Amino acid sequence: MIRLYNTMTRRKEDFVPRDAGCVSMYACGPTVYNYFHLGNARMLVVFDMVRRYFTWRGFTVAYVQNFTDVDDKIIARAREEGCTPEALAAKYIEAYFADAAALRIEKATAHPRATENIAAMQDIIRVLIEKGLAYPVDGDVYYAVERFPAYGKLSGRDAEAMLAGARVEPNPRKRNPMDFALWKEAKAGEPSWPSPWGDGRPGWHIECSAMALKYLGPAFDIHGGGGDLIFPHHENEIAQTEGYLDGAVLARYWMHNAFITVNREKMSKSEGNFFLIRDILPKWSGDVVRFYLLGTHYRSPLDFDEEKLAAAARGLDRLKTAWRLAAEAFDRPGGGSDELRTAAAAARQRFGAAMDDDFNSAQAYAALFDLARDINTALAAEAAQPAALREAALTLRDLAAVLGLVITPELPGSRGAEAAATAAAEEKIATLMALIMDIRAAARAKKDWPTADLIRERLQAAGLVIEDTPQGARWYAAP
Ligand SMILES: [Zn+2]
Repeated sequence: MIRLYNTMTRRKEDFVPRDAGCVSMYACGPTVYNYFHLGNARMLVVFDMVRRYFTWRGFTVAYVQNFTDVDDKIIARAREEGCTPEALAAKYIEAYFADAAALRIEKATAHPRATENIAAMQDIIRVLIEKGLAYPVDGDVYYAVERFPAYGKLSGRDAEAMLAGARVEPNPRKRNPMDFALWKEAKAGEPSWPSPWGDGRPGWHIECSAMALKYLGPAFDIHGGGGDLIFPHHENEIAQTEGYLDGAVLARYWMHNAFITVNREKMSKSEGNFFLIRDILPKWSGDVVRFYLLGTHYRSPLDFDEEKLAAAARGLDRLKTAWRLAAEAFDRPGGGSDELRTAAAAARQRFGAAMDDDFNSAQAYAALFDLARDINTALAAEAAQPAALREAALTLRDLAAVLGLVITPELPGSRGAEAAATAAAEEKIATLMALIMDIRAAARAKKDWPTADLIRERLQAAGLVIEDTPQGARWYAAP
């Protein structure tokens, strides 16, 4: 049973999906007016890891991550760069996918864009006005916070703390200073859409409500985001969606990752103390950055300094070295102890227990390092049975892959390519290999040994090794 910490109830809970065997997840994606920084990357890598783990545990995961592609910051930045807001957003969306690929963040099931979902937002706003939960004023529409008694339930803040936290500008159009904009009247030269309340554009919060509901439906499983989104963004998403829905909740579990800090200060664009992934990647590989980000439990703050990246590089290297040395010994003559089989089973068990406990990737690392150590010890003593050695090494590789960590050499043909192209090529090869393995398994099931052997031999010649193990056939790129 997977247990996760639910921000709404402030405790760990058993994860019970809305639909058996499926996980529906939404995470607030970037506002695309800049390249993303390490603090943004933590959130992206954490939820990518959560999604991969659910998939490994046999769930079908629907993961939606939006792009906010209309916003004050985008409009301001477009003016600075001398382009349209649309062109600016398109540029940074493309940059997002390149940087995400370098960190081995898989594409979400859907990446809806705010500007493509305006009608869904207007539907919600219309119903909120009909219900008296929102009011139009001179082309703007505001949410009437006082009309939603549960306001504050996620953040646990009272009205006074929320007022202080929202840092609201005085606005004579609002009935209550806490009210927030659902629709903003068009200003000259800004993108706008026609609406029953006049030309304008949506507020940020309504974008997520509309896209989450449209793609995942009411009471979906997990809503994620950085801890700084709890208030007011997620509180407002709840007020809008649950006000609209009549009784159903927006999401059943709320997960928030902690910040990255620099000298104990939160890393953020507004503080100016941020490191763009683009600026880090020439020095440290995406794999090292990912290894660093997952080396601390996602709810603990992570302080950044260069030495931590160096330590991550050393840690990742230890796992890679164990794989490489083991793979070189796969063809040694037989005999020896099969203790590594036990070690592999223990590692799998410990890894699962750590990840089941609120995705404790830091504890999961301990299982990987212990298995790597056992492999190295057995290799040094030349004591391991080759089949047991293979079992242990493949287990190490597969468990690391659940966290999105690649410890094997890059696949043939993908080396030296751009990071994004590499990830895309690997994804294609993995898909093809899954198909080939299925075809080979079908041939074996029919006792068509010549076909099964032909597939294995031809792939071997191409540097892709198939191993038949008691758990089924597996493949890897030869070192
Ligand atoms: Zn959001």
